[in-house]
Amino acid sequence: MSEIKPNKIKANKDLWPEAVKNSHDFQDPLFDYYYDIQYMCRKCKKEAVWSAEQQKHEAEVLKKVYYGKVLCEPCYKKYNSLKGRIREYERLWLLETESSKAHAEYIAKWLADIQEFKTYTDKYNRGMEHKLRRLLEVNQ
Ligand SMILES: [Zn+2]
Repeated sequence: MSEIKPNKIKANKDLWPEAVKNSHDFQDPLFDYYYDIQYMCRKCKKEAVWSAEQQKHEAEVLKKVYYGKVLCEPCYKKYNSLKGRIREYERLWLLETESSKAHAEYIAKWLADIQEFKTYTDKYNRGMEHKLRRLLEVNQ
């Protein structure tokens, strides 16, 4: 008998995050099992699989609420590291005074990170992108 990776796993809905327990999905027999889900990565356009095992782990152990995946694993990792760097720039920014903001030496790097970040998601800080671009223009 050959080993075939299971693509259908029984859900333990009692372990779902509380927010989902109140949703219609909780009652829906369609969600009694996890199935491998194929999708195309929005960033690199490669085929990716959100495996039934991953879905179970994310919902029942990590208690995450997902309604689908848009990025493959490698792209998601890059997305997350950009997100972390941008969060760090935002933290540094709060420590600047009005006059030091214009001379902060990470502005160009921050703007470049935002510009790369937005190729992964629509949820980025457009206002900050605009502000950084203007700061760079003014200080050239
Ligand atoms: Zn990708």
